[in-house]
Formats: sequence, C-alpha cells, structure tokens
Amino acid sequence: MHTRKLIAGNWKMHGTLAALSELEAIVAATHDDVDVAICPPFTLIAPAAALAGAVRIGAQDCSPQPQGAHTGDISAAMLVEAGATLCIVGHSERRADHGETDAVVRAKAEAALDAGMQPIVCVGETLEQRDAGQAVEVVEGQLDGSLPEAFERCVVAYEPVWAIGTGRTPSADDVAAMHAAIRAKVGPDVRILYGGSVKPSNAAELLHVANVDGALVGGASLTARDFVPIIR
Ligand code: PGA
Repeated sequence: MHTRKLIAGNWKMHGTLAALSELEAIVAATHDDVDVAICPPFTLIAPAAALAGAVRIGAQDCSPQPQGAHTGDISAAMLVEAGATLCIVGHSERRADHGETDAVVRAKAEAALDAGMQPIVCVGETLEQRDAGQAVEVVEGQLDGSLPEAFERCVVAYEPVWAIGTGRTPSADDVAAMHAAIRAKVGPDVRILYGGSVKPSNAAELLHVANVDGALVGGASLTARDFVPIIR
C-alpha cells in the first residue's frame, strides 16, 4: 500500500519558458510526505528537468513505436533523454482528439516502460455512460484493454471525462466506489490517482477518500498559487 500520495500536474498544451517560474515555486513547496510531478509540454521537459529538484518531470504522451518514419511523433527514449521519468498515456483528450483505442494506449504504456518511464494510464467514463449506470463497467473494460502486462509498474488515473475542466466532481461515495473497483483489478501496490477538477478547495476531501493515492491535476497545476495548496 502507498502511504505517500502522488500529486501530478498535467499542463496540457499550456506553458512556454516563462511558465518555469511557476515550476520553481512548486519545487520550493515540495516536502517529504508527498511525491510531486509535473507533466509539461514536450518542449519544456528538458528545461523543466534541469530545475525540478524533487519534482518528477513527465510527458503527456509518447509514441508506441521506438523510432522510424512517424512525422510529428516522439519516442519514449527521446523523452527519457530529455529528463522525463513519467508518461501520461490514454488521457481522455487523446482518446477523443486522436482516436486512441485501448490497444494503442497499452502499446504506449509498454513503450514507456521499455524506455524506463512509469506510465500514468488514464481511464474514465463519459457522462452518458455514467447516467446509463455503466461507469464501473466502462472503466474496468478500459483497464483490461489499456494496462500493459507489467501493470504493477504503472500508476492508474481515474478521470471521469465529464469532470475534466468543468468544475464538477463526482461525490466522495462515487469516487470511493470507482477506486475500490479499480483496486480490485490492480491490487494493493498500484497507485490510483483521481483527476477531474481537483482544486485547492476540494483536494483534501478527494484525497481522503479510500484508495485515492493522489491526484492528477490539470488547470489547477498551472500556477503555484493553486498547485501548492493542493500539495500542502
Ligand atoms: P482538470 O484536468 O484538473 O483541469 O479538470 C484534469 C486532467 O485532465 O488531467
């Protein structure tokens, strides 16, 4: 069981070099009771890693291929060389915007592991699926399809699609039920993060739910003003 939480920030397509001043303030706020990570855009990985201190730097995606004629893609080994030790795979925005299937997500997780990064494998249901009472079934299916063989080396992030960037969050009971279902699949040692509209005002409540081992934070990770209180 993990006693230390992991608070991971997903900067998405935000941030130029100027944003590294936020990272500096986040680095200064790390403490021994929590693991902190930031996943900036690819272009910021190397400069972020140079000043990250105890903060782990991650990528937001990687190619499933090791190299080759794949214009615009970036390999896991390239990300490791730039300083990434984590890699988000299967974020719902990539599943939706780029048609990534569970099989593609699994291949990306395998590639990340092969290169020496820890994958953060994202799963989560849409509002339609939740309203139809299918949330747990959908997430279990995504886990079955997306987790690599060495799933125990991954982090899982449960991010209900309807909670991302909307200010809406599931109830603590719904988070507990989903995280219990995920726990039953992945066992005691895999960290399970909650993501979707985590902010300073709700972080403590969400992070105290059983089987919530940390948070994947989007909008509220972009500034130290919001992210540092979540770390605290
Ligand atoms: P949000 O995004 O915190 O802005 O809702 C979370 C995520 O997509 O990882």
